[in-house]
Amino acid sequence: MIEDMELTLASLQEKLKEWDGCELSKNANPVLGEGNPQSEIMFIGEAPGEREDKLGRPFVGAAGQFLDELLNSIGLKREDVYISNVVKYRPPENRDPTDEEKAQCMPWLQLEMALIRPKVVVPLGRHALGHFFTKLSISNAHGKAQKLTDAVTVFPIYHPAAALHNGGLRQALYDDFSALKAFLDSRTK
Ligand code: URA
Repeated sequence: MIEDMELTLASLQEKLKEWDGCELSKNANPVLGEGNPQSEIMFIGEAPGEREDKLGRPFVGAAGQFLDELLNSIGLKREDVYISNVVKYRPPENRDPTDEEKAQCMPWLQLEMALIRPKVVVPLGRHALGHFFTKLSISNAHGKAQKLTDAVTVFPIYHPAAALHNGGLRQALYDDFSALKAFLDSRTK
């Protein structure tokens, strides 16, 4: 896909614009991740929504605003971390991405991970969690560190959009972010 180029976020952006390996690219704009390429923490959502599709940036709509609030609640800004999605194009009417669409877009997430080399990966919701652990459910796994490799821990959290539909999940998300902060702090001791 990108074997002839030096791997940088800018080169990934350019290559993604030319790519047509996913049906969704016929009717939507590419949205790659963004943020601090040196970050040890990478957040991964599901797929862009309407505003993300319009602006070509991840998590800039209502769910993104709540994500910003959650990050702020533990002393982080979005510029401190790297934020991406499993699927790089908005599915029509924001429907769930299909297994095929997730598989087609997977190389892009893998390239981003190869570039960022995060130590802590935070899947937001079940689609991103499923990329790492097929047998874990988000309702059981959220808020708890799961070892992926010696170097990488996965810390699943509910998707922020879930709390926009179900107000009861708002507090669960704040609690998971507090648990994430405690985990991050424990690594530096
Ligand atoms: N929801 C996601 O999963 N990703 C976005 O970028 C926006 C909303």
